[in-house]
Amino acid sequence: MASESDWTAAEFERLLDTETWAAGQIRRRFPGRSLAEIARLRGALHAFHTVGDTAMLSPLMHQVLVARRRGQVRCSVCGAVF
Ligand SMILES: [Zn+2]
Repeated sequence: MASESDWTAAEFERLLDTETWAAGQIRRRFPGRSLAEIARLRGALHAFHTVGDTAMLSPLMHQVLVARRRGQVRCSVCGAVF
């Protein structure tokens, strides 16, 4: 099974910038990634911005999120901007 640890920074940035989530668009933008994997990461991002949980994020993903300015990411689960 694919793991979040094999995501590159560029790929994760693309995920953060993908605000619409039609399945066809996700398949085009993330070749080789499953919808289940994307959904898991969406949940991980929601956990991160709501309770600061980083357990489901790789260290690299955490670095990318910390490096982003506040208000640059829209949560695809609840719609909050963080
Ligand atoms: Zn959220």
